[in-house]
Amino acid sequence: MTCDFISLVSGNIASLQPYRPGKPIEELERELGITDIVKLASNENPLGPGPMAREAIARCIEDIGRYPDGNGFVLKQALASHLSASGPEVTSAMITPGMITLGNGSNDVLELIARVFATPAHEVVFSEHAFAVYPLVTQAIGARGVMVPAVRWGHDLPAMLAAITERTRIVFIANPNNPTGTWINTGVLDAFLAAVPETVLVVVDEAYREYIEATDYPDCAQRLSEHPNLIVTRTFSKAYGLAGLRIGYAVSHPDIADLLNRVRQPFNANSMALAAATAALTDTAHVRETKRLNDAGRQQLTDAFHGLGLDYIPSAGNFIAVDVGGSGEAVYDALLHKGVIVRPVGNYGLPNHLRVSIGFEQENARFIRALQESLI
Ligand SMILES: *Cc1c(COP(=O)(O)O)cnc(C)c1O
Repeated sequence: MTCDFISLVSGNIASLQPYRPGKPIEELERELGITDIVKLASNENPLGPGPMAREAIARCIEDIGRYPDGNGFVLKQALASHLSASGPEVTSAMITPGMITLGNGSNDVLELIARVFATPAHEVVFSEHAFAVYPLVTQAIGARGVMVPAVRWGHDLPAMLAAITERTRIVFIANPNNPTGTWINTGVLDAFLAAVPETVLVVVDEAYREYIEATDYPDCAQRLSEHPNLIVTRTFSKAYGLAGLRIGYAVSHPDIADLLNRVRQPFNANSMALAAATAALTDTAHVRETKRLNDAGRQQLTDAFHGLGLDYIPSAGNFIAVDVGGSGEAVYDALLHKGVIVRPVGNYGLPNHLRVSIGFEQENARFIRALQESLI
């Protein structure tokens, strides 16, 4: 008889539900024997990486036999000058390489933050309908997750502030949030930051910041000098089109970066990702084209939702959560059989919605046709 391994682990690990990723195209091909599949399930950039990143990736093959630079010197330099120069506000903050922590995707960084700062004696606050990784990393370390009810699908920052206790170590905020696409404006965020005790780390996850250009969208990298307990996380997986390479980062007070760097794996950012991300930062034309495509696709999809009489959550990201009225899972399944992969979001407390990533015009059109046929 084999050992009951589950009995060896703590309750928080035993009851963990693994992250549910978007279904890979190859898996659906195997399962249903269909080809010509459209995947709009993981908020990937339909354009993929831009020409500059592609060139850097090709050049990098020569160096792949060597370990990467464990300190990511070149990318941190590039990020520091990019972040110091790119603030939309009048005075740009001074960001130094010592304030940056690189990760194997920003997911890696989110987990590092939880591991470094929270223990089973602590609480971690996040919103209902927020990114699934926050409760996951909280539970994995045995800390207590405190989920604050959302208001109109968005974060209720005053309620999140009220949920902070002496045991709270971390507050996770997604701005914009995935899967709802809701976002928090400058006034609301600044009021929150001003009121949070400085022993509580506020993590603002800006994975989709490149897609939003509202003038009252708060750039948190600009707020670090005023709020030393603030950590901003960003990624190259979305607008920069490098999801498969896994590269993201945090910007924070240098003392926080130092702590995160003690815990991370020595080579958590790989050579190709470092090279591609450094090149991608200079490719402003690609980010601009990405945004143009996304804006057009968002319009195409929301026009179609209006036509079909479907409610949706207005989104600032590269995806939209649409209310398919009835069971999201059933419509998801029907779409799969038509070769269209989207994301069911019942596990986010949104059983009637599906999240669709914004793709190329043809892909969006294919989804709309399939959706129309799948609605009962
Ligand atoms: C996609 C996403 C991330 C990060 O993805 P990585 O690929 O790990 O960088 C982080 N936060 C949110 C809200 C996301 O949607």
